[in-house]
Amino acid sequence: MSQANIIPYGRQSISDADIQAVVDVLRSDFLTQGPVVPTFEQAVASYCHARHGVAASNATAALHIACLALELGPGDWLWTSPITFVASANCGVYCGAQVDFVDIDPHTFNMSPVALEKKLIAAKLQGKLPKVVVPVQMCGQPCDMAAIYALSIKYGFKIIEDASHAIGAKYKGEPVGNCKYSDITVFSFHPVKIITTAEGGMALTNQAALAQKMNLLRSHGISSTSTDLEPRPADEIWNYQQIDLGFNYRMTELQAALGLSQLQKLDQFVATRKAIASYYDHALSGVDIQTPWQHPDALSSFHLYPIQVSATSGISQQALYQALTHAGVLVNLHYIPVYRQPYYARLGFKPGYCPHAEDYFKSSISIPVYASMTEAQQRRVIELIQSLCHVKVVKRAVGAGS
Ligand SMILES: *Cc1c(COP(=O)(O)O)cnc(C)c1O
Repeated sequence: MSQANIIPYGRQSISDADIQAVVDVLRSDFLTQGPVVPTFEQAVASYCHARHGVAASNATAALHIACLALELGPGDWLWTSPITFVASANCGVYCGAQVDFVDIDPHTFNMSPVALEKKLIAAKLQGKLPKVVVPVQMCGQPCDMAAIYALSIKYGFKIIEDASHAIGAKYKGEPVGNCKYSDITVFSFHPVKIITTAEGGMALTNQAALAQKMNLLRSHGISSTSTDLEPRPADEIWNYQQIDLGFNYRMTELQAALGLSQLQKLDQFVATRKAIASYYDHALSGVDIQTPWQHPDALSSFHLYPIQVSATSGISQQALYQALTHAGVLVNLHYIPVYRQPYYARLGFKPGYCPHAEDYFKSSISIPVYASMTEAQQRRVIELIQSLCHVKVVKRAVGAGS
């Protein structure tokens, strides 16, 4: 199969303006630690109606420093969704905390607030309440954040939204990232995500102290802000100190320039993804598969479009995966429940741990959706699925018709 006929599940859209923005930085004085990163941080924060943005080398790094800023450590618990990329859970392990999983809602694939409350009630009795909960805006569809936030007040945990899929999405009419229902929101700018900086991520918050702490941790824990520094001899002229154990998690100027340029097209990217999703909804409505349901409070950014097969679809999940892949449509499963990964299985988790996550895992395939996908490519995906799956049998109500 020639490369031209391959359709990935996701890919970047890079314009001449994006390329020029990166070239301009290459010719400038700063390749890292210059003025473009703060400009990008302010632009994303302002787009999302948040006060502070802290850019990082990737979303995984941003999740790590977000957990540390919330003082997650040994003896603490972090809870997240099992249907996510492993980084949403790994960030807790990095901090020496223990990780646990809350089952998903079978319609939105997001952390279920009902399952969360049930687990909180049990954890409270055992004295094992979580310090941090990480809801994931799966596929770009916002979680029921109002319900999760209400539980955070009742049970006293902090919230990091893993919105790696969801920049450009809206919840109750407001941008994801405004941190109205969370302490920190994290975005990823990996090339398959909504906008890209190649590698890159950002943590948004409305709390100045958290922003300051994350800033410090992403650059070795070194500060040169006079109010941060510890008392020094009067004749000490060197104006920086390492005051905490941080990391080198910085974003470069090249990445920030690409991100700033991509941000100009964010609304257009999301509109295109939404149009592709609507086309799929319509074209696949006659096929015996489940297309993704949208909550009325949510305006998804459509990072992913998972379809679900059932016993009547006429094809198994694995056979559908193989047939599409063989035809050059590089679909994937997002995700294997994190607790099923060998690393987490070694920590004691068993298959079957979260029943709704198991059902999702055994039925879902993410079909291609990205802003630069052509109409011909969309049609090819649709026609392949139509040819592989049974037609939906419409059940008529007894007594209807004739
Ligand atoms: C992509 C992704 C991440 C990690 O993003 P990176 O920028 O690659 O580190 C974390 N969480 C979720 C849900 C993701 O999809």
